Amino acid sequence: MTARKPIESWLTDMDGVLMHEGIPVPGADAFIKRLRDSGRPFLVLTNNSIYTPRDLAARLSRIGLDVPAENIWTSALATARFLDDQHPGGTAYVIGEAGLTTALHDAGYVLTDHEPDFVILGETRTYSFEALTKAIRLINAGSRFIATNPDNTGPSPEGALPATGSVAALITKATGKDPYFVGKPNPLMMRTGLNTIGAHSETSAMIGDRMDTDVLAGLEAGMQTFLVLTGLTKSGDIDRFPYRPTTVVDSIADLVDLV
Ligand SMILES: [Mg+2]
Repeated sequence: MTARKPIESWLTDMDGVLMHEGIPVPGADAFIKRLRDSGRPFLVLTNNSIYTPRDLAARLSRIGLDVPAENIWTSALATARFLDDQHPGGTAYVIGEAGLTTALHDAGYVLTDHEPDFVILGETRTYSFEALTKAIRLINAGSRFIATNPDNTGPSPEGALPATGSVAALITKATGKDPYFVGKPNPLMMRTGLNTIGAHSETSAMIGDRMDTDVLAGLEAGMQTFLVLTGLTKSGDIDRFPYRPTTVVDSIADLVDLV
């Protein structure tokens, strides 16, 4: 049995870990403060590609969580990093919001509907039939199909919202082409994040509230994993999965003293 190395850097999911339905989870502020005071590399992760890191930092700040924009890693940033690696300076037709288009611009991508290298689907609240039709025709004509994240639904106070995975399924039905999904549970989301903060997987930990995304992606990226029970997963749900997190805790408050 190999001994675990001390944790030098932390990745944490946002929804269900630091906040839940717009309200901060007790202990989240103390955890973030401890991380910042420690000087250890850390990132707050989200599969949501709507917002830029600056938008998200402002939203977190409003509920008392002071996370600098540079410590936020979205599926949009991971997608831009992935594309910069796959095809530097490429072109893309994008269905998405500022979080995605800004990340792609910053990566040197040109957004166009004329023979783009890629069709990139992200989260939006205003899907248009016209844009979907264009995406379908471009994919049929040979553009590669990328989606920021596979989530089928997203949360809202009024109930479930259709999310990127559901819209990707519509495009797949129409084209016969599956997208490459970049966000969790793809460990690429963790690896690209770790790279940006200069962290190594064997000395990093991932905190999440979902077994099938956070814990899976963390363990596949070779990190220690902490499951918190303040979000989607309750302790009785864990047995449904063939893998386990390194540690299960009630909430982020239990992890403050580990930093
Ligand atoms: Mg979550």
